[in-house]
Amino acid sequence: MGILREKFDTQTRQRSRIRDSAKVCQFIINGEWILPHNRLEEMSELWRAVQTIRPSQNHEPDKLVWMPHPRGKYTIKTAYTVLRTQHPKTPWTRLFWTGACIPRQATIAWMAVQDTLMTQDRLVQWNSLKISNCVLCNNQISDRVTSLNSSATTYSPVPIIQRPSSQVSSLSSLCNQLLYDHYKQASNTSIYHWAQQHASSSTRPIPENGFHIFFECQLAGSIWKQALAWCGVTRKHTNSVKEWRWILRRLAGHSLHKLLIQTTLTATIYWIWGERNARIFKQQARTEQQLVQLIIRDVKIKLGSSKANYIDNDWNRLAAIQVGQAMNIVSTQQVWVSWEPPPQG
Ligand SMILES: [Zn+2]
Repeated sequence: MGILREKFDTQTRQRSRIRDSAKVCQFIINGEWILPHNRLEEMSELWRAVQTIRPSQNHEPDKLVWMPHPRGKYTIKTAYTVLRTQHPKTPWTRLFWTGACIPRQATIAWMAVQDTLMTQDRLVQWNSLKISNCVLCNNQISDRVTSLNSSATTYSPVPIIQRPSSQVSSLSSLCNQLLYDHYKQASNTSIYHWAQQHASSSTRPIPENGFHIFFECQLAGSIWKQALAWCGVTRKHTNSVKEWRWILRRLAGHSLHKLLIQTTLTATIYWIWGERNARIFKQQARTEQQLVQLIIRDVKIKLGSSKANYIDNDWNRLAAIQVGQAMNIVSTQQVWVSWEPPPQG
């Protein structure tokens, strides 16, 4: 009677006086259901349903049935499905998890768009770092100033601003105006700490957070602009929230040109994040042009080997040229047909 464990809590089961180890056959005598005397109101529906089933006459032993599987078989796949938390698919999922994107790049992009990358603003909030400063567009501030243990300066406490938790699930974090405003406020902590330095640099820090690095940062924004231009798209960059709303609304799709931009987007995020890490942890820096070339190289390698067919239109042709051949652009030819009425009778 394992079903009782699924349907009712421990107290209810105890009140029913049916043991957890009870078997279905204990409730069948001479092929008829014998229901317990102590039938709880909570279980009345269950007993009613049981009586609509005719007990088997074959006297077969009880067997386990794995309900999540249509044939009652236990499989790892169905167990995983039962255990995992499932959320409705967000409309922007398909932007990153298409076969066209390079998986490791899609993973970083996925984290970026949900604002889960370990940006410096977050570390300042956790008090692991004193000052958040973007190394891509502002390398004038030395490590000595920003690192935790470098200075004997004691900082006045600043109120901790909680990251807003309410989000619209259909929009990614980088489309969230509340979160954007929060970062603008949280950035003040870095500026405040910087101002308290005894010998603070004359260069003010430019706080690093998800919105800044994708793509309000001067360097990152310029790389994204050039990458988009390579895809044949030119647009005026406004602020990060508007940019991401445009990206998530307009770049979904399965045409070759859409796939080109999606792959370019994930490659751009990957290389910008990689460059940020290289500058912080390895003290190595690439130029803007080198980064753009790396993005284009990855997109060409990934899409250039595709064998899929795509409809012949201006955008797809442009995309095919950019990734250099191999694309099967299928031209749609007009076929004229006419209809004649059938002969009378
Ligand atoms: Zn920057």
